[in-house]
Amino acid sequence: MSSKLAQFGKRHIARGIGRSTELVIEKAKGTYVWSVEGKKYLDLSTGIGVTNTGHCHPTVVKAVQEQAANLTHGQVNIFFQKPMLDLIEGLQPKMPHPSLDTFFFWNSGSEAVEAAVKLARQATKKQNIIVFQGSYHGRTFGTMALTTSKTIYGKGFGPLMPGVHVCAYPYFQQWAAHKADPAKFTPEWCGEEALHQLELVLKTRSDPEDTAAILIEPVQGEGGYVVPPKNFMTGLRDICDKHNILLICDEVQSGFGRTGKMFAVEHFNVRPDILVMAKGIASGYPLSAIVSRKELMDLQPPGSMGGTYSGNAVSCAAAKATLQVFEEEKILENTNARSEQFFSTLRSKLPGLLPKDMKVDIRGLGLMIGIEFLNAPKGFASAIANEAFDLDTIVLTTSIYETLRLIPPLNITKEETDLALDRILASVEAAAK
Ligand code: PMP
Repeated sequence: MSSKLAQFGKRHIARGIGRSTELVIEKAKGTYVWSVEGKKYLDLSTGIGVTNTGHCHPTVVKAVQEQAANLTHGQVNIFFQKPMLDLIEGLQPKMPHPSLDTFFFWNSGSEAVEAAVKLARQATKKQNIIVFQGSYHGRTFGTMALTTSKTIYGKGFGPLMPGVHVCAYPYFQQWAAHKADPAKFTPEWCGEEALHQLELVLKTRSDPEDTAAILIEPVQGEGGYVVPPKNFMTGLRDICDKHNILLICDEVQSGFGRTGKMFAVEHFNVRPDILVMAKGIASGYPLSAIVSRKELMDLQPPGSMGGTYSGNAVSCAAAKATLQVFEEEKILENTNARSEQFFSTLRSKLPGLLPKDMKVDIRGLGLMIGIEFLNAPKGFASAIANEAFDLDTIVLTTSIYETLRLIPPLNITKEETDLALDRILASVEAAAK
C-alpha cells in the first residue's frame, strides 16, 4: 500500500520537494513513527529538530485539543489573544538575556528570520546583512538570499534580495583538512581568522554605516552541525558593539533545548540583539518568533508588522504546553545525559569501523550531533542513512560534506538511545564494507 500511496504523492505533490525516504507515515508517538502498513521506525530526525518533546506528547496533545475547542484563531491585528499572552509569560524568563522581552510571532522559521531582518533594517535605518558560509535561514525570497549552505536552495530563483554579504564561518574540520599541517590549526585559530575576514568585509564590502545586522546560527544546522569556537562568538558580539551593528542569532534549529541548554547562545555567554526561534518551540505546531528589547521593537511603527496566522492560538497553546513538559520532565537534564551516552559510545566505537584512510569527526552540543566522515567517498553518509533505514531507523544527512546528523527527541530514553546507537554503528559497518 505504501508504495501505491507514494506513487500518488509523487504524481500530485510538487517535484521540487526533495525527500530522504519514500515512507508514507500516518501515526507517530514519542521516538517512533509508523508507516501505513503499521511498520514501526525509530525516528532520529524529529522532523528536523521540531518534535523535541517526542511525537504527540500527551501534555501537548491535551493543550491543543482544549485550545482548539475554545479559540483557534485570534487575529493579532484585531485582538490580543490570551494563549499568546500566557505563552509570553512562560517564555520570557527562558530567554538567554533579560533584555529580550518583546516578541513578534509568526508561523515558520523563514518568516521569523525575515521579521528579524525587517526589524534590523527598520530600527537601524541601514540595509546590509552579513551572513556566514554554510548558513541556512530559509526558502522565502528574503531568506533565500541569506542562505548559503547549498546552491540548490537559490539556483534559478534569482534575482534575490540585495544587500547580503557572506563571510567565512570557522569550520575547523574543513579548514584543517585543507592545510598541510592540521596540528597547527586549532578551533581558536579558525575563530580568530574568521573574525579577521569579517573585519575585512566591513572594511572592503559592507561599511559598518551600511550594515544593519550580522546574522548567525550559533550552531550551524544545514551547514553541517558545526559548533563555532567560543572566541568567534564573543568576538562577533564585540564587533557588533564596536560598529553599532545588531547581532541576530537564528536558533530555529539549535533552540529549545536541542544543545542541552535552552538556547545555544548560552554556551557562549553571548547576548543577541534579536533571537529567532521556531521548530522546537511548539512541538510540531507551526509557530515561530523573534524576541528583542522593547526600545528596538518600539522603533517599528504600528501596522508595519502582522499577518493572518501570526502566533496562531492553538500553536501558542502547544508552545506553552511544551514549556510545561520541559519543566515537568527535566528535559534539559535528559538531553545532557543522553548526549553523553551518544558521544561516548560513538567516539569509542565508530572510528574502529572505518577504513584506515577515513577519519571521523563526531561533534555537536547536546542532542545536536554531527558525524562527519573525512576522506570518505561521495555518497558515504547517504549510504549509511540508507542502511539505517533498512534497520527501521530514520537518520538524516546534512551539508555538502559527508555528514550525518542525529536529532532525536530530547526525551529519548536510555534504552532507545542504546537501540539507536546499535543501529547506527551497524549501518556504518555495513556502508564501510
Ligand atoms: N533557520 C534555520 C537555522 C533552520 O534550520 C531552518 C529550517 N531548517 C530555517 C531557518 C527555516 O525554517 P522554516 O523551514 O520553518 O521556514
